[in-house]
Formats: sequence, C-alpha cells, structure tokens
Amino acid sequence: MEANLFKIMHMRIKRTIDALAKNNIKAVYVPTASDARSLLETMLVEGETIGVGGSVTLNQINALELLRSGKYNFLDRYAPGLSKDDVFEIQRKALLSDTFITSSNAITEHGELYNVDANSNRVSAMLFGPKRVIVIAGQNKIVPDLEHAVVRVKTTAAPANSIRLDCDTFCAKNGHCLRPVCDDSSIMAIPAGACPNTICCNSVVMGRQRREGRVFVIIVGEDLGY
Ligand code: SF4
Repeated sequence: MEANLFKIMHMRIKRTIDALAKNNIKAVYVPTASDARSLLETMLVEGETIGVGGSVTLNQINALELLRSGKYNFLDRYAPGLSKDDVFEIQRKALLSDTFITSSNAITEHGELYNVDANSNRVSAMLFGPKRVIVIAGQNKIVPDLEHAVVRVKTTAAPANSIRLDCDTFCAKNGHCLRPVCDDSSIMAIPAGACPNTICCNSVVMGRQRREGRVFVIIVGEDLGY
C-alpha cells in the first residue's frame, strides 16, 4: 500500500480498535495473515472445544489446518463425508463451544460488528453460547459506519458468497443486491419475497457487550475474505 494511504488506513484501524474497546470488545492489530495465525495459536487452549463460522478468511490464514492438528476438540463442519444433517448437528454443538472462531462481514469505526447470515449459526454463536468468540478480519472489513456496512454486504460480501456457494440470487448474477441502496425505511430490507434464495436472512449488529473480553477481534493489515 502507498505510504500515505497506509497512514490513513492505520488511523482508521486505531479509531476502530478504540471504539471497539469502548464497547467491551478487545481488539488488536497484526500486520499479516501469518501473524494472525500465530496469535490465534497462542490464544487457543489444548483440549478445548472449538467451533467455526463459515469464513474465507479462516481458510486464507490456514486456521483450519491448525484446528485439525489434534490438539483441540475441533468441531469440524468441513470434514469429508458429512451429510447435511451431520453439519447441522456440528453447527448446533458449536453454539456451546469453548471458543468460536469466525470473521465479520464488516467492522465499523464506531465499534460495531455487522454480520448477515443465511443459516445464522454464525451470528447465533457470536451473540451467545460460546464462552469466547475470536473474530479475525482483514483491514478491508473496516467501514466508517453501519450504512457503509450494509452497502459492503450488498455489493461485496453477499455477491461473492452467493457465487462461492453457487446460490441462485440476483447478486450472484449482477454483482450487487437487487436493492443496493439503503433507505430510511429499513437498513437491509428488500421487498418481502423478492429474493427467494437469499443468503441475507438475518442481519445482526453487535454493539456494546455485557461480558467484557468475550469477543476478541484480530484486525489484519491485509485484505482477507469478503
Ligand atoms: S438479498 Fe439477495 S440479491 Fe440482495 S444481497 Fe442478499 S442474496 Fe444478494
């Protein structure tokens, strides 16, 4: 990244980390994906039960390889040969894991995590259940505010995930939501029934947390995931 843009990005990252702290969400910055994986390894406890949310970021930092090392009771929803019912049961068990690891669709400079899910196992675990939630997110996930977070999902995260998951949605074919612009009536909403195969079923804003430190965010100085 060009030097002046790098400085601006780091001002934004610092602003975000400070705002998250005010919401009882501890956040740290690491420069690279490799650093993120190393930090993650130091945080995990041998023998603990670990669940994960669906995340391209976790693949990019090779987190799954670490979790499959045998040191942890990893609830591996990606293990070969699993049926849909098997995956559903693993996702249910992950709601009571010791540590749940995921990324976030967007992190606002106001200190909020914004996530939109289809099955919603990920947002459920982020909200309540696991004793600890570790969020690993590239710097590309930082947005000024919730409005930009919604736009980010509608123009980047949802279209890319729709393509990745081979979903028959408007955004998979057009690269943006069928209703890309937020309006005053509803921040995420589309007309009822307008996207029958939507992956945007539940939209969750995480603000101030009651349990200080339960949610821990690692912001990586690289673009990761979408
Ligand atoms: S509501 Fe449908 S078209 Fe819009 S972003 Fe979500 S999946 Fe894509």
